[in-house]
Amino acid sequence: MTHPHTRTYWLEHAWLDTHVEPGVALDVKDGRIAAVRQEVPTPPPGAEILRGLTLPGLANAHSHAFHRALRGTVQVGSGTFWTWREVMYSVADRLTPETYHALARAVYAEMALAGITAVGEFHYVHHAPGGTPYADPNAMGEALVEAAAEAGIRITLLDTAYLSSALLNKHRGQPPTTHQLRFSDGSADAWAERCSVLKDRDHARIGAAIHSVRAVPAAQLATVARWAEERRAPLHVHLSEQTAENDACREAHGCTPTQLLAEHGVLGPRTTGVHNTHLTDEDIALLGDSGTGTCMCPTTERDLADGIGPAVALQRAGSPLSLGSDSHAVIDLLEEARAMELNERLRTRTRGHWTAAALLRAASADGHAALGWDEAGTIEEGALADLTTIALDSVRTAGPVPRLGAETAVFAATAADVRHTIVGGRHVVRDGVHTLVPDVPQALARAVDALRT
Ligand SMILES: [Zn+2]
Repeated sequence: MTHPHTRTYWLEHAWLDTHVEPGVALDVKDGRIAAVRQEVPTPPPGAEILRGLTLPGLANAHSHAFHRALRGTVQVGSGTFWTWREVMYSVADRLTPETYHALARAVYAEMALAGITAVGEFHYVHHAPGGTPYADPNAMGEALVEAAAEAGIRITLLDTAYLSSALLNKHRGQPPTTHQLRFSDGSADAWAERCSVLKDRDHARIGAAIHSVRAVPAAQLATVARWAEERRAPLHVHLSEQTAENDACREAHGCTPTQLLAEHGVLGPRTTGVHNTHLTDEDIALLGDSGTGTCMCPTTERDLADGIGPAVALQRAGSPLSLGSDSHAVIDLLEEARAMELNERLRTRTRGHWTAAALLRAASADGHAALGWDEAGTIEEGALADLTTIALDSVRTAGPVPRLGAETAVFAATAADVRHTIVGGRHVVRDGVHTLVPDVPQALARAVDALRT
């Protein structure tokens, strides 16, 4: 992903973190923004023109690429998170490095079309069904990293420790179920050994994840935390998505999942709790005081009937917020951003918990930081040239003055309004068309169909 020559982009309107600036020229060199020139009312000769409102690229901080195969299927009938999980396992059973690569390439291409320039892939389907390692024990993770390269987006592969099916006591968990055998490395030490072989690339960084307190026995949490600490890598963990997880943790350990993570050194500024839905006041203080981030996944949380997490209180306590499309019921970061605010409005019957600027920060700068891409998520000199342009002249976005572009983008636009996506100065989506993956709907249909038969 190196681009030796300089290229100039002219942004009709640019989102500069606090306001919309008309007429901005960006000089891009080696994939980074070399200069930001304001008050450029007309495109300089030879510049690539980005009409609409250009935002910093969007970061999808929580993804399970294979869940895309469940779209539609799991919206039939009723049930709970736990019945949904059974359907999800039946798809996981059928994945191979080849089918996973094809699906993830199409899903990441869908993300690029939605303006997403970086994805955090919370990856736990490591081995062949039954738990036998592939010849390359990282074949599945490598398939995801390669898929992101082919779809033109950045990836943080959050390689996930998943060792047990349920909490038992301090030292042990219940063994994985048949479905879960392929998720498990057997021990956190074996997980660490396998992950240590994975290497960062231009478009890819390696991070760690703890699936949840039910999937990693307490005595092994510190091993994963230490691995991430030594590499200064991001560490993510599903946290208190379901009340049943809290109940089981109290029974086994006499404390909440957040307290358990705190006791074992998991919390900290490079750690992100995903969902953080059912928390006590003490949990919120622990997360905030430690600078642990929160990744909200509102479209999944509402699809799975999880509940509404205390995002306002978490942020006030000191926990930075990011956003993820998680199960990919839909892939639309703008929808995730507005859903976080609109959930709070319904709960509190008051409006305006976050400004559009704050919601965009969660969708870009803070999301990138949660994935270890601190140098992305703002339009400024030295930042990675990752950009997303939203049309301001579609049926959804026409009308408001450009000065209100951020409000229009967050509260009215959808993924369908993304006109351009640029990653490291490379035009991955141009005029709504993916430049690397020719027919994304067909690629998705084929990849999903291959998992059905
Ligand atoms: Zn998840």
